[in-house]
Order: sequence, then C-alpha cells, then structure tokens
Amino acid sequence: MAAKSKKRDEPSNLPLPIAPELLTAHQNPIGNALAQWKEQGRVPPVLLLAGPRGCGKRDIAFYLAQTLQCENAGFAEKGEDAHFGLLLGAESSASVGAAPIPCGTCGSCLRALSGQPLDFREITALEDSEILKIDQFREMKESLGFSGFTGGSRIFLITDAERMNVQAANSILKILEEPPRGWIFLLTVSDASLLPTTIVSRCQMLRMRPLPEETLRALLIRAELPRERVNVLAALGQGSLARAIELSGEKAWEMRGILLQFLLQPQASFHPLIDYAAAESTQFRILLDQFEQILNDLIVNAKGTGPGYKNQDARKVLEDHSARCAKRKGGMDAAVTFWIDRSERLFKIRREMKVLNAKILAGDFLSPWMDAV
Ligand SMILES: [Zn+2]
Repeated sequence: MAAKSKKRDEPSNLPLPIAPELLTAHQNPIGNALAQWKEQGRVPPVLLLAGPRGCGKRDIAFYLAQTLQCENAGFAEKGEDAHFGLLLGAESSASVGAAPIPCGTCGSCLRALSGQPLDFREITALEDSEILKIDQFREMKESLGFSGFTGGSRIFLITDAERMNVQAANSILKILEEPPRGWIFLLTVSDASLLPTTIVSRCQMLRMRPLPEETLRALLIRAELPRERVNVLAALGQGSLARAIELSGEKAWEMRGILLQFLLQPQASFHPLIDYAAAESTQFRILLDQFEQILNDLIVNAKGTGPGYKNQDARKVLEDHSARCAKRKGGMDAAVTFWIDRSERLFKIRREMKVLNAKILAGDFLSPWMDAV
C-alpha cells in the first residue's frame, strides 16, 4: 500500500460520506457529546479526539464538522443576533437527549459531502512521515478577524496533532486559549500524552476506543477486500482499520505466508523476513504486529483451553509450531517461556526501532527461533 506518499489534502481523500458502522461504533462518546452540547446550548471551542491509530478519528472529525455546520442540525447560526460558536435555534429543545445528525440536504451539508466544505480547513502533514510546522498555521492566523462565509462556525481540523513541532504548538497556544468567536478547533491524536500539556489543558477531550471486531469486518467488506481475508483481517486489526488494511495489501499478505512458514522452517524464511522488515519501518511494524498476535495466540492456547486462535487462517501452523517448540525446548512450559521472552523482546524493539538499525533488530528478534523448532 502506498500509504507513505498519501496526500491528504486532495478531495478524493476526504472521508465522505462516513460509514454508518463507524458512527455506530463511536456513538458513545460522539453522539452523546453532540446531544449534550445541544442541550447545554454550547459547543466547546477546542475539542481533542483521542484514540488509537486507525479507529476513525479523522472521519469522525469530518462528521462533527458537518454536523456543527449543518443548517438543520440545530448548531448553525440563526438570525443576526446569533453568536458564533454557540448553538441556538428553536430546534435545540426539540430533541434533547437524542444525538443531532446532519440533514445531508442543506447547502452546508452538500458542500461538506462533495468534499468542499466552506469555513473548514484541515491542517495536516502532507506525507505520513512529516511533522506539522509553523508555516502550516500561518494561513489560519492570517484569517483572524475575518468572519466566516456562512454565518456558522469556522472549523479548523488539526489531524495527528502530535506531529506539531514545538514552535508550531507554541504558535497556536494563544488562539486555543481564547479562540475567536465562532471558531472551533478539532484536534486528533493517537495518544494525548504525546501532546504538550499546555495544549491538552485547553481541550475538551473525547476519548475514542478501538473499533469492535464486527465493525472492522463491516468496514473491510465496504472496502471490497477479498471475503476470504476479511475475517482474519478483522481479528488481527486490533481495532484499527488502518492496521487491517495495511495487512490486506498483496505484498503484506504474501509476507504473512512467509512468516507462517518461518514458524515451521525458520532457516528458509529468515532472510526474506529480515529484508522485508529492514526495507521500511511500516513493513517492520506490520511484521511485529503479526508476531505479537501470533505469540499471544501461542501463549493463551498453550494449555489447549484457550479462547481459540485470532490467527484463524494459521491454526494448523500454530498448532504444529507449538508441538515442535514444546518438543525442542523440553516441554510446553519451556515453550511458553520462550514465547514470553520473544514477546518482551518485541515490545522493546518497538521503541528501539526509532533509533536503531532495523536489520540488526530484526535479526536479533528472529534468530532465537532457529533452535526453537
Ligand atoms: Zn444539513
């Protein structure tokens, strides 16, 4: 998958319209928050969507923006005395308790659904690996003092806000402290602890959870992935659509086959796996993600009374590996000790791979298997 060179600012990449399954999965807290804001007559001006990678934060942010700007959802300005950023209107008392939803037919919704919303700007790294720099916030600051086009909120989405460098973060602190009337900031972050506390303290946080497996399955079917892979990908995605889709690519799937061979005949697959891991950090991570779940499957099913295998497509391989490893190591307890040891090493490698040589780390991780089966 060409995730690395993915450009985010092209309309074709806008996540529209949102899949209903995604909305259902995040009904709590998103729907609840919308209902609460409507009831209270106020939308917090700085919102932080915090949740693990691939749980749909950006899609939900687009949905929130559409809802807040929809002329019929009860948040948009009505009349000359309306105050920006605050919701009002006769409807606000009509549906207290129910989550307001965008109508999908007003001018504002149509623009949003066509990928050209007014008074909305996404600030994001153009490449997946880049950081957000101060220049990217300049345009936003230059529009200070100008009112919006529609009379509704002016919304800024800062995607992957943890990528802001220190200067960029400092440059927007004051605006976040006292946002101009009518401005709403949506920030997404995979881990709020990666943001400066000065930023977090200005935000109302909406915590989003990993996606349930059945939601992932539905979203993967929507993405028209091969049916025979969907169940495995949904189980291995660990609540992350991004992770499941990464693994669905032909190259990653082919490497999965080699990885499974490795569990039975490590010598033959050792070098191909290392080359794959060393070529790109994303590939190394895809490999580690799979090893993590394989090790987990092996450990929890070691006594034969486990919950079953997440790696449904590899049950036979894992059972064979398990039996061989127990024989070679001198018992199932020793095999489990070996797998736990590999799991611990794996977690260390996730940190070390940011600074150390991938080829050496991959070799270090894989070589103990040579005399384990
Ligand atoms: Zn609408």
